[in-house]
Order: sequence, then C-alpha cells, then structure tokens
Amino acid sequence: MNRDSDRQSVSTKKIAVLGAGESGTGAAILAREKGFDVFVSDMGNIKLPYKAMLDQHGISWEEGTHTAARILAANEVIKSPGIPESAPLIQQLKAQGTPVISEIEFAARYTQAKMICITGSNGKTTTTTLVYEILRKAGLNVGLAGNIGNSLALQVAHEQHDYYVIELSSFQLDNMYEFKADIAILLNITPDHLDRYDYTFQNYVNAKFRITRNQTKSDAFIYWSEDPVINAELKKLHPGATLYPFGTEKNGHNIAYIENNNFVIHANLQPPFVMPLQELSLKGRHNTYNSMAAGIAAEILNIKKDTIREALSNFQGVEHRLEYVATVRNVRFINDSKATNVNSCWYALESMTTPTVLILGGKDKGNDYSEIEALVKEKVHTLVFMGLHNEKLHQFFDGKGINIIDTDNIQDAVNAAYEAAHEGDTVLLSPCCASFDLFTSYEDRGKQFKQIVRNL
Ligand code: ADP
Repeated sequence: MNRDSDRQSVSTKKIAVLGAGESGTGAAILAREKGFDVFVSDMGNIKLPYKAMLDQHGISWEEGTHTAARILAANEVIKSPGIPESAPLIQQLKAQGTPVISEIEFAARYTQAKMICITGSNGKTTTTTLVYEILRKAGLNVGLAGNIGNSLALQVAHEQHDYYVIELSSFQLDNMYEFKADIAILLNITPDHLDRYDYTFQNYVNAKFRITRNQTKSDAFIYWSEDPVINAELKKLHPGATLYPFGTEKNGHNIAYIENNNFVIHANLQPPFVMPLQELSLKGRHNTYNSMAAGIAAEILNIKKDTIREALSNFQGVEHRLEYVATVRNVRFINDSKATNVNSCWYALESMTTPTVLILGGKDKGNDYSEIEALVKEKVHTLVFMGLHNEKLHQFFDGKGINIIDTDNIQDAVNAAYEAAHEGDTVLLSPCCASFDLFTSYEDRGKQFKQIVRNL
C-alpha cells in the first residue's frame, strides 16, 4: 500500500471526484485535507447535506453536468461505484491514461489500520455487520465502512481506527489496484449485475476475486468451499494468502464446519471454537455460513472465544434481512425485503420451518424462478404476487398447484397474505426482485411492509 509519506511530493496534484454521494464526498474531504486540488462533479443532483460538507471544506463542485475539460485535466480520478466503466467520460480518461480509482483505494493510502473486507453476491452486509459487532465487543478500535455507514475516506480523515471492517461490492473492487485486505472474505458468487459486466459472468467473477489482490501468506482468504464458482476459479488462480475454507462438511480442509449440530472453527493452533448451532442468533443455513466466515475472521484476530460466542448469540441481525416483524393471531411475519435476487429468496425459503405464504415480485432482473421451484412446492401454499408487472411470475408458477393471488400494491399484498395464512404459518416477504416499480428502495418496501403488518 502507498503511505502518506509517498504522497507528500505530489501534494499539488489535481484530483477529480465523480459522484458526490457518501463515498465521493468522503473522498473529496480526505483529498482536500491531504492538500490536493479537488474538484467534485455529479451528473445528478447532490444531496443537501453533502453540498454543505463540500462547502464547509472549501471544495468546488458542480451538479447536473460533467465539465469534461476540468475532469480530463485531473492527475487522478476517484469514481463512484455507481458510474459504469462504459461511461464515455471514463473511457476518455482511460484512453488518455488517467488513473481511475475507487474511494476505498484512495482512503487506504492514508491509514495503517488492519483491513477486514467482505464481498460475495449475497450476505455481505450481514457478515460485515457481524464481524464489526464481534470486534466492537472485543473492545477493539474499529470502524465500519464500504456500503454501510460513513465512507472509509471520511473515517480516515476524521477518526483514527485500528481496524476497518469493509463491505465491498464488485463495483468498488473494479477500481482497486494497490489495496490489500489483511483478511478477505468471499461468501459466494452467483450471477448478478451482469448488465455492468458485458453480460459475461466471468467478468463478474474476476471482479469478486480482486479481493485477494496483493495478499501474501501473512494475510487470510476466507471463502465458502462448497461454492462451485469459487472452486472452479481457485483451480485457475492461486491467491497469495493463506486459505481458510469453510463449509458444512468436516473434510480435513474446512477450517469451519458442522459436527453433531455444533458449529466448529479450527482456525489456529488453539483449541477449536465450538458452539451449538441453535445458539446462533441468526437462523438459516446461509446465516450459518455468514457466522462461520465472521467467526474465522475473529479467531484469526485472536479474539476471546467467549466474546465471539456472545456476539454470535446476541446479534440482532440487520434490518430487512430475514427480519422478524410480529406475530399476529399466531401468524409470523418476516421482512426479507433485501432479497432482491432469486438466490437470496432460496435461502430465505430454506430457513422456513412452518408452512409459508410468500410475497414476491417487483422489478424483474432477468430472473429464473426454477431455482426456487422445488422449495416453493415443498414449503409454500400461497404465493402473493406484488408488482406492476406480474406476467412473468404467472408464466412460471401458474398451473403448478399453488394458490396464487395477484396484487399491485403492498397494502393489498399484506391483507391477502394474512387472509390466506393459517394459524402457525409464516408470511414471508422475500421478493426476488428490485423494488423500483412500486417503491423508492428495498428499505422503503421493507418499512412499508412492517408498518402495515403492525397495523393489522
Ligand atoms: P448483501 O449485502 O450481499 O446484499 P445481505 O446481508 O444484505 O447481503 O443479505 C441479502 C439477502 O441475501 C438476505 O435477505 C438473505 O436472504 C440472503 N443471504 C444472506 N446471506 C446469504 C448467504 N451467505 N448466501 C446466500 N444468501 C444469503
């Protein structure tokens, strides 16, 4: 990693920041404080609090346009993960050889903290929060960053943490070059965001594997060993890090596994960490994997077993991820609004222990519902479609012997699900789809769901 001292000689360097959201604003402030000449440009509208922060630091900015001449004159560009590589301006920058980096890449140059980084198609936020909670409970001086909370750059500018737990999306990883994770976690890889990767799955896989870049033997790479995509990739590519595979099987390789309904971690020379599965606060197989990954990271950091146990058994979960809402007349309601793809709905269904009414639908991202068909047949007696365009869901599920109710708003969907549910059932909102047809975000969808359920 480049360090502060390496940067002193280039302190008049011009930096352009594209996109003034959480990460862009944080990067601009850090760059300003490090003495760079900073210009921020956002094609959309910049939110008021971010404008205020930029003004407060004397940083010049523009919105609703990109002044190409000013951006092309920069020595380095920090790009928001939301801007695709294919954007004409990015192409121009690359063609003229201007480095385009992510906010995490930039911020990491100015801290010596240990970096624990989490990526994967599903489970990133849950696992990142879990690792953070364990480290916090252990009394470490730790910051939470990436897609969650304040940007890494802002924390590096204004707080001095010894550890950062960072959620990394493939888009952030795309523009990371010198960055090194001390501990990298790769949870799983299933197709997602292919529109940003030339519809080539391998490009997305390559982006995820960038989390292992620059790692050496003294660093750790924790990964789910039962993921066929990860395994295929590891046959071709040999990360420099020490490998920490985890999975259900005790097979001589897995560092964490399940044995006699216990969750076991054998990460170092000390006695293994053993905890009954039922004591894990997060339920469902996918969450056992998330707990394994978090537990291995904690063991590598030599955190006391009692602290890990306590954190794993008390973790409250993250809002909108298999979140328990309420029980109304013996019907349980679960909010899994963050399940915006079919794979995450699969794991939600897999964790259901009662007959289920499933609410799904929204903005389809090219979904293939055959992945959940068997589980739907096994566990779901009623499907409630909730979307402006339910045709594709009908095409797939009609005529399969499942009760189907069609709705186009959340109030009707909850009412219909409640009516269809019997005592002891679960009503699960796990939509498989993005929310933008009816809601502003998955958070908005989840909050409305909870509000309506609480008013039943
Ligand atoms: P991300 O940040 O990667 O989107 P989250 O932790 O927000 O992941 O979880 C999103 C959804 O993915 C959850 O609602 C849950 O149903 C599902 N999920 C969580 N962990 C996993 C996992 N390890 N494997 C597969 N699905 C998961």
